[in-house]
Amino acid sequence: MTKKVLVLAETREGSLRNVSFEAIAAGKKIADGGEVVGVLIGEGVAGIANELIAYGADRVVTVEHPHLKTYTSDGFSQAFMAVVDQESPEAIVFGHTSLGKDLSPKIASKLQSGLISDVTEIEGAGDDAVFIRPIYSGKAFEKVKIKDGIVFVTIRPNNIAPLEKDGGRSGDVAAVSVDITNLRTIIKEVVRKSTEGVDLSEAKVVVAGGRGVKSEEGFEPLKELANLLGGAVGASRGACDAEYCDYSLQIGQTGKVVTPDLYIAAGISGAIQHLAGMSNSKVIVAINKDPEANIFKVADYGIVGDLFEVVPMLIEEFKAL
Ligand code: FAD
Repeated sequence: MTKKVLVLAETREGSLRNVSFEAIAAGKKIADGGEVVGVLIGEGVAGIANELIAYGADRVVTVEHPHLKTYTSDGFSQAFMAVVDQESPEAIVFGHTSLGKDLSPKIASKLQSGLISDVTEIEGAGDDAVFIRPIYSGKAFEKVKIKDGIVFVTIRPNNIAPLEKDGGRSGDVAAVSVDITNLRTIIKEVVRKSTEGVDLSEAKVVVAGGRGVKSEEGFEPLKELANLLGGAVGASRGACDAEYCDYSLQIGQTGKVVTPDLYIAAGISGAIQHLAGMSNSKVIVAINKDPEANIFKVADYGIVGDLFEVVPMLIEEFKAL
């Protein structure tokens, strides 16, 4: 049976995040020929609705309000539930992002539905869709099927390929008006840490450093390599604890989970807690001077050597291409 699917789109600094397009692709599979409705919540977001349609949404519903300019779970849940009341969806897709992880349980409890979080793959379509998600920090995968009620999933960024963009597609864009009331939190000001370049959780290439990098300055060649490859810099908790870099770069069980096309681990031993955040990367290159380091067990390519010699050599080689 075909389904009507609501897909929550996410924005950052006025632009749609990639995970929104991936969520539309996931929504298409679940809809199985049914309707995929993009949901844009914020202030001044209607202008980007057509991009969701170009990536496969059949139509877009916007909810705009000054209190929705910045995410709060209170405000966004009121806005999203207004759309649910209007649309009565059979399925919902969010990104498994900070926002999605925060909002999805709240919406699921309001809908009295189940929730399959952190989906990395969808087999089949419609009623036969089977959702695959990592468990035990990525050591195993489980397959889940929903037999009854609303199908509600969050999808891990960088795992489900977006559909090809088609600027010729058209679809309705309509606003739902909502009175955002009784907010327990109102965001007055957002003070951002200055982050350079590509968003780590969506980067196609990640160059990560560990305690082996030895200092804040030691991260410079890693930054240069990441810039050269259009990627982002990440780190182990060892490097963050040693104050070589900010905790926002931490990858692992208690940090970010990343699945780039290429993960370069330099001076990282490969503790189980680190592997939990990166072992599903498509190609892993490990640089470590200890040939017995655990990271080599998950690496597709291993380089036994000093990172301060190997990384500059890689930089030279990539520059020469
Ligand atoms: P180390 O284990 O000290 O490894 C450094 C590596 O660098 C060594 O293998 C060494 O051979 C190599 N090296 C040294 N010099 C060079 C050189 N010049 N060239 C090349 N190689 C060199 N860790 C995370 O990363 N992410 C998490 O989210 C996380 N969550 C945790 C949660 C809990 C509850 C706990 C208990 C721990 C967690 N940890 C996490 C910590 C984890 O157990 C490890 O301590 C940490 O990952 C080690 O970081 P590291 O690999 O950088 O350091």
